[in-house]
Amino acid sequence: MGNAARMAAIAAVASYTPPALDGDRSETPGELFGTNVFSRSEMQKRLPKSVFKNLSATIERSQPLDATVADVVASAMKEWAIEKGASHYAHVFYPLTGLTAEKHDSFLDPDGAGASIAEFAGKTLIQGEPDASSFPNGGLRQTFEARGYTAWDVTSPAYILENPNGNTLCIPTVFISWTGEALDKKTPLLRSQQAMSKQAERVLRLFGHTEIDSVVAFAGAEQEYFLIDKSFFFARPDLIAAGRTLFGAPAPKGQEFDDHYFGAIPERVLGFMLDAERELFKLGIPAKTRHNEVAPGQFEIAPVFERANVATDHQQLLMVTLRRVAAKHGMECLLHEKPFAGVNGSGKHVNFSLGNASQGNLLNPGDTPHENAQFLVFCAAVIRSVHLHGGLLRSVVASASNDHRLGANEAPPAIISIFLGEQLADVFDQVAKGGATASKEKGTLIIGVDTLPELPSDPGDRNRTSPFAFTGNRFEFRAPGSSQSIAGPMIAITTIMAESLDFIATELETAVEAGVDFNEAVQKVLEGIITEHGAAVFNGDGYSEDWQVEAAARGLKNLRTTVDALPELDTPETKALFAKYGVLNERELASRYEVYLEQYDLSVSVEARSTLEVAKTVVVPAAIRYQGELAATAGSLKAIGIDPDLALLESVTATLGELTAAISTLESALGHEADSTYAEAEYGCSTLLPAMSAVRGAVDELEAKVADDLWPLPTYQEMLFLL
Ligand code: ADP
Ligand code: MG
Repeated sequence: MGNAARMAAIAAVASYTPPALDGDRSETPGELFGTNVFSRSEMQKRLPKSVFKNLSATIERSQPLDATVADVVASAMKEWAIEKGASHYAHVFYPLTGLTAEKHDSFLDPDGAGASIAEFAGKTLIQGEPDASSFPNGGLRQTFEARGYTAWDVTSPAYILENPNGNTLCIPTVFISWTGEALDKKTPLLRSQQAMSKQAERVLRLFGHTEIDSVVAFAGAEQEYFLIDKSFFFARPDLIAAGRTLFGAPAPKGQEFDDHYFGAIPERVLGFMLDAERELFKLGIPAKTRHNEVAPGQFEIAPVFERANVATDHQQLLMVTLRRVAAKHGMECLLHEKPFAGVNGSGKHVNFSLGNASQGNLLNPGDTPHENAQFLVFCAAVIRSVHLHGGLLRSVVASASNDHRLGANEAPPAIISIFLGEQLADVFDQVAKGGATASKEKGTLIIGVDTLPELPSDPGDRNRTSPFAFTGNRFEFRAPGSSQSIAGPMIAITTIMAESLDFIATELETAVEAGVDFNEAVQKVLEGIITEHGAAVFNGDGYSEDWQVEAAARGLKNLRTTVDALPELDTPETKALFAKYGVLNERELASRYEVYLEQYDLSVSVEARSTLEVAKTVVVPAAIRYQGELAATAGSLKAIGIDPDLALLESVTATLGELTAAISTLESALGHEADSTYAEAEYGCSTLLPAMSAVRGAVDELEAKVADDLWPLPTYQEMLFLL
């Protein structure tokens, strides 16, 4: 034993040869793109005109899908899938675990005569019925009524999942209980979208638009991740169980040189990225940007933004694809927010905007004062939303893993504030002071801001410390974690925007009805919002100590842990918000609160058990061997009359003693049972995590003392730098 596993891993890395290229790589990304997607153009080719029109109306204007249409679509989809080599189909859904779930069925049905026929009816397309009793539902279903239903989400295209042994037609679906309650993350996302669109359209009508397409939220998610060699991963039980290292002394060299950020991408990693991108292209996922990130071994991939709903499904597929392709290249893709202590963690910045085909991006400042006014109204809606619901935004990024990242001087703090950039902040300052005093010009919309210079579409200044930053024509929510689904954040953003746009539309409609000049009404609404909600705007350094103090003075919440943040889902305000816009009823919301608490508790418990196991069965034996070696040497020296130096032996013995004590504290802490899920989670946070830290402290100290040839766990240096 000793360090044999480690050495074998290092040898494997040193002798690694990249996999042979499979297949022809001559296609351009353009030729590859969407080849495995039952896309709009594929549908147009294969469907009768009237059916295609009907389906398009469903996709674009959220009209219900006709059952006869479904039959025709199902049959065309099946033909297409079989041509693509599919033998099975799967309804893919997104349970509250944040993962992706699939139920696979064969296209073949026995025909009674010993043969089989390919069967795929419209009703199979529209509805599935997985036995879903094992998905967390937070009390929404009794076990005796375990049925869950899946139904095709027409707005997200079906695709082919390839495997060397056969292909599968995958159909993105919503997942609901027999009572129609949402058991997944997609249903509320679709509902929030509908609610937001309705309110945004009211505002657009006030600005004089008559032709208005459905307003949708767009999302572009930047995914950060780590890559380590598979051999190291296999030699780290903590990584396998928890997705992060529960132990590990810092490497002599970390990220302090900043030599990794945007550096040349290592050949092996580039090979992986090219392969992953090919897979993503085939699935119609527009992967665009790739680069090294700050920490060694850390990288980023960002697809081009899409409709929030499609972007969310694609994000899930992207995570699965990264892991799958990494394995092919002998690596493990770590999506955990903080796989290594002491170096940067990984986030998933969610860029979002609102818009439609008829009015374009509503968060784009535009060139004319009129457009500026409309833009400022939408922008004010964001400010108001973030101020009123900062706690909710914090809660939707809360998880055991993201707790290690938020506020760790590399990621935004747990305080949710909004960054506008100098120019835009200045515009709102003027609005707050009653607007500019310039005289009204006939025919121009005067709202006190039109005398200002054009708003730049790409402000030069960037703020990396803000959780919610305006970046020229969109906002970037930087708090979401790398492993999480972007559905939660997008549901929250879209719903709070619906509420603020509703508020604004009502104010403006009332004013206009009362005969108030529209320009004055707009100025008044903007002024009111910035006065009441400007406290959320912060353009300074979000990492500074001063900000913590100032934020408290401004009344902003600072919810440091998941246990502090999740109760935001349980407040009267949150309940009223989601109920009012038909996104989640009280039971659905309560079930989410319950499931997320439970997931936190489970994650922490798994980590605690893994900590114990590794400490007891891997680290303690190594330390005892070394202690024995030192003691034997001391004995031999004494026997030949040399006075041994016992300092090292004593030091190892002392740390081993600390470790044994920490182990027994953690062991007895693990036996605890609380009487509610909240109490359980709270206990994990306040008792288990510190007990785990104490074990880790002693282990990491031993790592620095024990002879390298006895140390069994791959080190930070090996995992982060050998690739
Ligand atoms: P940076 O790292 O500088 O923030 P990236 O290019 O890595 O920028 O990522 C920017 C992300 O924002 C991409 O996913 C991009 O498609 C997305 N994005 C760009 N414009 C919009 C928009 N109007 N709405 C939503 N997302 C957008
Ligand atoms: Mg970014």
